[in-house]
Amino acid sequence: MIDEVAKIIQTHPKVAYKFKNASQVGNWRGWGIPYHFGVQKKSGNRFMLVGDAAGLANAFYKEGVGTGMMSGIICAKQIANCLGKDRFTVNFLETYDISLKKEFGKLLSFSEFVLKLTRKRSLFIFLARILKKKFEKRIKPLMLRRSY
Ligand SMILES: Cc1cc2nc3c(=O)[nH]c(=O)nc-3n(C[C@H](O)[C@H](O)[C@H](O)COP(=O)(O)OP(=O)(O)OC[C@H]3O[C@@H](n4cnc5c(N)ncnc54)[C@H](O)[C@@H]3O)c2cc1C
Repeated sequence: MIDEVAKIIQTHPKVAYKFKNASQVGNWRGWGIPYHFGVQKKSGNRFMLVGDAAGLANAFYKEGVGTGMMSGIICAKQIANCLGKDRFTVNFLETYDISLKKEFGKLLSFSEFVLKLTRKRSLFIFLARILKKKFEKRIKPLMLRRSY
């Protein structure tokens, strides 16, 4: 994998030129995809967290681009609100945490639940077979409504 990535960086026509003057600053290392949505606060005194920093990746799919971008939109609206009211305190920014929970809470806690379920392989397969049609029916309108 490392060799493959190194080769792309050195030779791929769409990538190599971007690294022409770059030098490696450390060893290669893996990094986990953060899905710790329910664990920490997403805002505090004069700050808000978005995307991976807020643990918004989907635990089951390991996708975080869509939720990350959506959290940027929610964050921007909150900033406009803060500027409009000239308030940046912990208490005022709490509405950001609430908005994130409203937007992603159900989706992300469900994906975390499904991830846990996959650890019991036979039970997961059994339930997936039984519930497939039911989920497909419920998921479609959800997918059409959301952009992530
Ligand atoms: C191998 C892999 C595959 C993935 N595949 C998918 C996928 O198919 N679909 C999907 O939806 N998600 C995927 N993800 C997850 C997705 O990449 C992340 O959830 C998403 O990129 C998070 O966006 P972000 O803006 O929060 O963070 P990032 O994209 O990590 O952006 C953070 C940026 O901040 C910069 N930065 C860090 N520290 C500092 C600093 N001190 N000063 C200035 N800049 C700083 C970083 O260089 C980086 O550019 C994948 C992740 C990995 C690792």
